[in-house]
Amino acid sequence: MTRLRIDWTACDGRGLCAELVPELIERDEWGFPLISDAAVPPGVLVHARRAVAACPRLALSLQAENA
Ligand code: SF4
Repeated sequence: MTRLRIDWTACDGRGLCAELVPELIERDEWGFPLISDAAVPPGVLVHARRAVAACPRLALSLQAENA
């Protein structure tokens, strides 16, 4: 099982990740990402990886967990 995580000390809240993986990330009223705590579905994993790679603050990561 894989989940998206945010390092809040690094995130600048511009919301690029929400545009790249809208299936799992929404934005709050200030533009900061709201990340689903659900496991990343296999079909969305490629988008999630792209968002992790594109995050300008290296604040986004994928965390693999045992089921
Ligand atoms: S792309 Fe990175 S820095 Fe920008 S809102 Fe998402 S987690 Fe934060």
